[in-house]
Amino acid sequence: MHSFDDFRAIIKADEPLAPHIWFRLGGPAAFLARPRTLDELVGLLRRCHQEQVPVKILSGGSNVLVRDEGVQAMVIHLESPAFSDVTVRDNIVEAGAAVPLTALISQTARAGLAGLEFLTGIPGTVGGALRGNAGDRQVAIGQLVRKATVIDASDEIQVRDRDDLSFADRASNLDEPVILSAEFELEGSDPEAVVRRMRRIWIVKKENQPYGHQSSGCMFKNPTPDVPAGTLIDQAGLKGTRVGGAEVSDRHANFIVAQPGAKADDVLHLIDQIRQRVWQQFGYELELQLQVW
Ligand SMILES: Cc1cc2nc3c(=O)[nH]c(=O)nc-3n(C[C@H](O)[C@H](O)[C@H](O)COP(=O)(O)OP(=O)(O)OC[C@H]3O[C@@H](n4cnc5c(N)ncnc54)[C@H](O)[C@@H]3O)c2cc1C
Repeated sequence: MHSFDDFRAIIKADEPLAPHIWFRLGGPAAFLARPRTLDELVGLLRRCHQEQVPVKILSGGSNVLVRDEGVQAMVIHLESPAFSDVTVRDNIVEAGAAVPLTALISQTARAGLAGLEFLTGIPGTVGGALRGNAGDRQVAIGQLVRKATVIDASDEIQVRDRDDLSFADRASNLDEPVILSAEFELEGSDPEAVVRRMRRIWIVKKENQPYGHQSSGCMFKNPTPDVPAGTLIDQAGLKGTRVGGAEVSDRHANFIVAQPGAKADDVLHLIDQIRQRVWQQFGYELELQLQVW
């Protein structure tokens, strides 16, 4: 901790991560930092490099599972107001990485801008959503991005333009250590029509996904656009399968829900079982969408 003395105000050692993760599972971080300004963030990243301490960025925690033994790294929780600005200029919206998707959608809807409604019901933040190109089977956030500001591996701030960005199924080439903000290009629309579309999406999602449970969204990517992982898991008869306190949701087979007392290890063993069964039965190798730390 000595070498991080001048960051004492923003770092805690051996800090539990479970309260910040949607699964509410897993062990502590060796260090958990909450930088309050961009300068503090850049300074901390540089120090971590000097000290050869690995860094992990945590945002909304809705796509991360932390192992029970915890994370030997500086986990940087991006949540401060310095990374949470939203500005609207005509049909261009700039949003900080820590802006929750719910806040982004409602602010753009109020401004009479359409395009982001498909993100309704997806927890997490702009940064996490860009990293994993969050969306549904038709649309994903990458399609609306004009540019993104990042901190690169040399701890320099860089702007990446549309031409330089590529997005794929739950993946993007925004692979710099930190995404700081992004600009989206939206379309003018009647605010009430946008809100009506958001409500319709929310009703469908609530019916099909296990909200209200400890979970982390879809565990696996779809092997192909026409072959949803959830359908394979369902057809393999795995709904309701349990390892310890981890269970395949009976509402949506690509979700694992954690019952009281569950361990991260239970989730990991259940993931292995699902992969094995789907491979044996259908010949598809399921790839994790969930980030395991
Ligand atoms: C109930 C539920 C429903 C969900 N439904 C969907 C859905 O319909 N579609 C979908 O795509 N996803 C869905 N998800 C998954 C999840 O919400 C998204 O992947 C979300 O975008 C993750 O954002 P986050 O801020 O929580 O990221 P985190 O979970 O905090 O991080 C995810 C990854 O992104 C990295 N990261 C986060 N922020 C940054 C940053 N600023 N810079 C660099 N790297 C960063 C992290 O290091 C980590 O590797 C769902 C999750 C839940 C719990």
